[in-house]
Amino acid sequence: MAKTYDPNNVFARILRGEIPCKKVMETEHALAFHDINPQAPTHILVIPKGAYVDMDDFSARATEAEIAGLVRAVGEVARGAGAAEPGYRILSNCGEDANQEVPHLHIHVFAGRRLGPMIT
Ligand code: C5P
Repeated sequence: MAKTYDPNNVFARILRGEIPCKKVMETEHALAFHDINPQAPTHILVIPKGAYVDMDDFSARATEAEIAGLVRAVGEVARGAGAAEPGYRILSNCGEDANQEVPHLHIHVFAGRRLGPMIT
């Protein structure tokens, strides 16, 4: 069953310009900004501009252009942060068991230090 999108979630409000963010880059399909509570020297969130709850929703409904746009934006953000080498981590929490807090798809990009083992 399709997930219901809350149009007043905090990232929807950022996309509408109702709440400020520290913007990193913006394209036709994606917006990237610094996480307000960074967990690494570089901690950037990349979000699609479309109304998608999470990766489950996005992978089922997004257009090819939206999917390509989000993936390209993640790569651009990582390269822009100088993280392509020595490396970075991307993560997206999807749903309740993953403790997703904000119900608008977001890809975390962590870099700038040696990251610990994968969190489970
Ligand atoms: O993956 P999850 O939904 O748990 O992560 C939400 C992220 O959004 C958190 O890292 C939080 O710090 C960030 N956030 C933000 N700006 C807001 C609200 C939340 O960067 N206004």
